[in-house]
Amino acid sequence: MIGGIELGGTKCIVAVANNPLDIIEKKVIPTRDPKSTISDIVSFFNNFKISSLGVGSFGPLVINSESDDYGLLVAESKKGWKGVNIVEELSNINSNIILDTDVNAAALGEYRYGAGKLSETLVYVTVGTGIGVGILLDGRPHIGNFHLEIGHMLIPNSDNFRGVCEIHDNCWEGLASGPSMQTRWGIEASKLSESHEAWVKEADLLAIGLVNIISNHSPDKIILGGGVMNQKHLFPILRLKVKEIWNSYTPLDSLSQLISEPGLEDNSGIVGSLSLTL
Ligand SMILES: [Zn+2]
Repeated sequence: MIGGIELGGTKCIVAVANNPLDIIEKKVIPTRDPKSTISDIVSFFNNFKISSLGVGSFGPLVINSESDDYGLLVAESKKGWKGVNIVEELSNINSNIILDTDVNAAALGEYRYGAGKLSETLVYVTVGTGIGVGILLDGRPHIGNFHLEIGHMLIPNSDNFRGVCEIHDNCWEGLASGPSMQTRWGIEASKLSESHEAWVKEADLLAIGLVNIISNHSPDKIILGGGVMNQKHLFPILRLKVKEIWNSYTPLDSLSQLISEPGLEDNSGIVGSLSLTL
């Protein structure tokens, strides 16, 4: 039996499974302060005997397993969590912990079992509370020196809207995440009607980021998940905007093939976290 944790800024999903697609038991735990959240996670696993534990976590955090700080959250992206070492805190559950970023884990889930099967350069983007991106090259995450932070790339801010990122004025996450939409339009994104102008603006902003990713990584698949992307009507507008901005510079594959919904729906993260153990 294997264990998996998708540790998100809003909620954690914990699960035990025979294999990533055969989940035995799963629970959703709201993410609060580190102490009570971790205590709930640990008590879930008390009832099971697992051989290893895969964790996909929000960051930024140290994912180099050779580092003395393996598992350390290095910034206050979630209030109260800076300085918490995820691997240390979870070591009572199991000593064999494989940790990666939440988006690398979700990308892995989609690569193995979802819409990204056999994709050589797979990009997974989540657009929700924040924007995060994981990139897999032949199924292995592209980490770089620390890990990628593509959600914080700077993009044009034509109407001088003040982005919601506390670090940057005009990064992708600050201008196009769920909280940013709420600030811009004064209403939660999920409550905006399909015909609202907000979606064209959102597609514009997302397309700029995607074109930057296409320029940098030439992916054969970009999968978009997260709360904002549950608005399926956003996909066709987004594909059209990407096409417009790219302007036939190089041939792109069929845009509905290139830019796709997750194959695992809302389960990319937990299936991917479980997959880290394999
Ligand atoms: Zn930022």
